[in-house]
Amino acid sequence: MTATPRTAVVTGAARGIGAAISLRLAREGHRIAVIDLDEDDTSATVDAIRAAGGEAIGIGADVSDSLEVPAAIARVVAELGPPTVLVNNAGILRDNLLFKMTDGDWDSVIGVHLRGAFVMSREVQRHQVAAKWGRIVNLSSTSALGNRGQANYAAAKAGLQGFTKTLAIELGPFGVTVNAIAPGLIATDMLRGTAERLGVRLDTYLGDAAMDIPVRRTGVPADVAAAAAFFVSEEASFVSGQVLYVAGGPKA
Ligand code: NAP
Repeated sequence: MTATPRTAVVTGAARGIGAAISLRLAREGHRIAVIDLDEDDTSATVDAIRAAGGEAIGIGADVSDSLEVPAAIARVVAELGPPTVLVNNAGILRDNLLFKMTDGDWDSVIGVHLRGAFVMSREVQRHQVAAKWGRIVNLSSTSALGNRGQANYAAAKAGLQGFTKTLAIELGPFGVTVNAIAPGLIATDMLRGTAERLGVRLDTYLGDAAMDIPVRRTGVPADVAAAAAFFVSEEASFVSGQVLYVAGGPKA
């Protein structure tokens, strides 16, 4: 339990890394707004938090929609109190080699990751600035360093690193820190789709990938949640504008 419970918004939190971050922050004592595209999909995360004695609500919203996001945050304010913690985690993949990548592949990935983090952060920062305290954690990726078939995703994840550093400069004077986590391979449904596209089973894909990772395993959502909990903690108030690679080694 934290000394000061906060209201935290976690996007893309119906499953995977976002669900793990939500559960971890709830365990630290925070009230959690579990945001995902479909409110019905948030129930597993919300129920798990409540079953563990925490407080959570589920909200359906598209993070890239500048009308849905203010409505979602207004609900958070009304039901949990003004949010001062934001984890921009929602994400999608639309992998393709450049010559096959469509405008839609490009726009949707940039839209969810970059525009989504922008719209969400703009909405939540007003509450953080008013409280003179805040934490924003953005989910980047080792793909920011370049990854075949992911021009859209790599551009979005590298863009999030510049976004993180800029918000750290702008919001620091108001007691708000802004950091990014760049995970390597984390076993979630997102990778299930990648394995399917490559025509291999997920466990085969992860097993092969683990051999190239210095710690000889792929990551789990809890690995990322632990890093997020650190950035959100009171003790991390002098850490801002950083990118922490959570990848089992120094590079992808
Ligand atoms: P995931 O299992 O696919 O979960 C992503 C969640 O985001 C889904 O519940 C998805 O909802 C939701 N979402 C998608 N678009 C949204 C939107 N416009 N508005 C609100 N919610 C939306 O992915 P994950 O593996 O947990 O990844 C979480 C984050 O970590 C992503 O930003 C990802 O890029 C990043 N990351 C993951 C890995 C990895 O290896 N898994 C590595 C590096 C970085 P739907 O199910 O309805 O689509």
